[in-house]
Amino acid sequence: MPRYEYRCRPCGTTFELNRPMAESSAPAVCPEGHEDTVKLLSAVAVGGSAAAPAPAPGGGGGGGCCGGGCCG
Ligand SMILES: [Zn+2]
Repeated sequence: MPRYEYRCRPCGTTFELNRPMAESSAPAVCPEGHEDTVKLLSAVAVGGSAAAPAPAPGGGGGGGCCGGGCCG
């Protein structure tokens, strides 16, 4: 069930309600009982790719023979 955020004008508090999408625009009463509330645009978690660490170099090469001149 989506969660909506509301702000109460009289007391300025912000509260959240879990309600069906069909009732998202229905009037919400603040915890203090005020009915003069406005619905806020809730920040939906935006899917983003976290910076993935680049694969560590290494694993290639090595040996040490042809690099040291022993192959000549
Ligand atoms: Zn209120």
